[in-house]
Amino acid sequence: MSLNRENAWHMSRLAKLTSILGVLFGCQYLLLPTAVLADSRQGAYQPGPAPVQPANRRPTEAEVDRLFAEALKLLRENHAFQARQLLEKAASLEPNSAAVHCNLGLAYQNSGNIDRAIQEFNEALRLKPAMPEATLNIAGCYQSLGQTAEAISWYEKYLKVSSDSAESKQIKDVIEALKATSQKPASDPSLPDYFLAITSEGTYRWPIERLPIRVFIDSGAGVKGFRESFRHDLLESFDAWTKASGNRLRYVLVPERTEADVVCDWTSNPAEVSEAGTQSERGMAHIFASHGDIRRGTVKILTKPTLDEGTLSNDDMKKACLHEVGHVVGMQGHSPNNHDVMFFTVDTATVWPVLSKRDKATIARLYESYPEASASPEPQQGGR
Ligand SMILES: [Zn+2]
Repeated sequence: MSLNRENAWHMSRLAKLTSILGVLFGCQYLLLPTAVLADSRQGAYQPGPAPVQPANRRPTEAEVDRLFAEALKLLRENHAFQARQLLEKAASLEPNSAAVHCNLGLAYQNSGNIDRAIQEFNEALRLKPAMPEATLNIAGCYQSLGQTAEAISWYEKYLKVSSDSAESKQIKDVIEALKATSQKPASDPSLPDYFLAITSEGTYRWPIERLPIRVFIDSGAGVKGFRESFRHDLLESFDAWTKASGNRLRYVLVPERTEADVVCDWTSNPAEVSEAGTQSERGMAHIFASHGDIRRGTVKILTKPTLDEGTLSNDDMKKACLHEVGHVVGMQGHSPNNHDVMFFTVDTATVWPVLSKRDKATIARLYESYPEASASPEPQQGGR
């Protein structure tokens, strides 16, 4: 992280803390750069195998145009399943449109059927070789599947066909991060937990004497795109992780950031959740630790949707909150399994907006030596 992005309060706190704290961790949570829609059918037509009667062709083409436009809107609003139905119909009326197959692939990808998505993108590429949208989206599919080598190879293909695109900087960042991930000691994605993956560089926990963790959540006032439900999502994330720890980990909300151990902020500026110049995160979390003891944490969540004209889905916000809160409670690393909230790639339909069995087992193992919470539950508001 770079300190100059921190606000004045953080700076003053940091000045006091740097003498005792030695470790900073950030999140390398990768945003899937998959949201590339073929937004026009222009030029996407290839001559069909059989000539169509001009009299029949016009109404069909108009119907395909209508289905395509409607599906595009649905995809932007995160209604992948409905979009899929329209695009299936469009593809049956006009099987030779690369744009239809590309967006159908995206509809499958966003509704979690990655294998079928890859099939549709390949069909788009057969009709329109080197189509940049389909190339990029296939890369995202392999990233979602955790097939890192394939993902890198498709991203590199994409850079070759559109090196001057707006996404190319982001793609280069993603390639670098994927390469770094693939060099880490692999851990088996089918184990009952991913404890090894989150402790490979040391084991970090909130010390017993600092529990409950005092959490401050900024109001989000004035942050573009902020919705009141986001605060609820963040609270639910703290609830989910503490519950999964067997309530060995506890937190309370505090009304002032100066009283907090964990400060949670919102931003609409992707640069504020970027790590060392990368542009590929949905959120950011840092812990400040001394030896294995976490002393302080920060969470910052991006309120901007993936698509410029799109809507940030509730599920994507929930996933970002769960993931970043996971880091701040001690998960210092990522899961290699694409069904875990702590998977290293964000916004993939393979991750559900709830903790997986493995997420729960990992936090439980991290805090297993801590005493269980007493019978009388802590109040959810107030200081220590
Ligand atoms: Zn992360």
